[in-house]
Amino acid sequence: MPASLQSTDGAAPPPAALEPADQKLVDGVLGPGAGQRRALAKSITLIESTRADHQARAQQVLAALLPHTGRAIRVGISGVPGSGKSTFIEALGNFLIDAGKRVAVLAVDPSSSISGGSILGDKTRMESLCQREEAFIRPSPTSGALGGVAEKTREAMLLFEAAGFDVIIVETVGVGQSETMVAGMVDLFVLLQLANAGDDLQTIKKGIVEIADLVLFNKADIDAQATELARMQVQTALTMLRPASKNWRVPVLAVSSLARRGIDAFWADVERYRDTMTGTGEFDAKRRRQALAWMWNLIDSGVRQHFRRHPAVGAELAQLTEAVAEGRITPGAAAYRLLDCIKH
Ligand code: GDP
Repeated sequence: MPASLQSTDGAAPPPAALEPADQKLVDGVLGPGAGQRRALAKSITLIESTRADHQARAQQVLAALLPHTGRAIRVGISGVPGSGKSTFIEALGNFLIDAGKRVAVLAVDPSSSISGGSILGDKTRMESLCQREEAFIRPSPTSGALGGVAEKTREAMLLFEAAGFDVIIVETVGVGQSETMVAGMVDLFVLLQLANAGDDLQTIKKGIVEIADLVLFNKADIDAQATELARMQVQTALTMLRPASKNWRVPVLAVSSLARRGIDAFWADVERYRDTMTGTGEFDAKRRRQALAWMWNLIDSGVRQHFRRHPAVGAELAQLTEAVAEGRITPGAAAYRLLDCIKH
């Protein structure tokens, strides 16, 4: 295993001893066969639980698994509904499994955190992939805010890595915030596009292409010529943007997920990305940055929660927010007064 693929998701040593039930989970996740699937499912339930004691246990299980993580390549895939994400992931998953790999598919679905229903979690999607032993498809967690969903997805990612999955695919719908979150947890972020005469440059403007490490035009079988035109336009437009790395020129490829064409060329580029970035040290550096950003995210939300629950804040908050709204006090003065409440 290349050193660059080892875990950078944290360096804390595992706790001395686990409860027997949790040790069984850890052994199950690390172990083979049907027992592993059961242990993965149980561990995910633990991670997703909102109970404080479950959360504490989940952290212990993850800490014990941490030394076994980091070996997979993490690929994020985004695109608007209908762009063909599930068809593409099904084609890619089958391709990878045929090449001897194990594949986990995780979803971050912003709609699930708002409505409680998940469009990405629909089990009837990716039907042929679902049936393969070497694949594990986990729908988006349905509880909590988008930040919480992303956090649980990150933790699930570690579970699957410890279980020896080679490729972790994180899927998200192409709507703003969730894309940035997913880009922040993967090694390589892929944007799935449709050739849509004239609209292609719109994507560039939205700034989304700027976080993509690879752009794919799907459904090339429908109109090969239009796809090629769009592909070239975006490729040209990308040369005008400042690249995230001077060592990586974002490839723009055409595929047909339905006909399963172009999948091999796509994967060759993913491997080229990994090899190039590993060679320059950027692969590891990105993971380190992401791990630290994750930690600070958790600290920020924890501090915020602590602040809001603090009794001294509670006593003043209503009054001060009203005063700010009515312009009787400046937002700055109100903020400092509230922050003073938790100093002691
Ligand atoms: P998602 O919402 O992004 O997950 O999109 P789906 O994978 O569900 O695909 C939406 C529709 O586009 C489905 O009817 C697919 O069969 C179709 N589709 C996906 N990929 C292709 C492709 O490469 N060519 C064609 N012709 N249709 C495709």
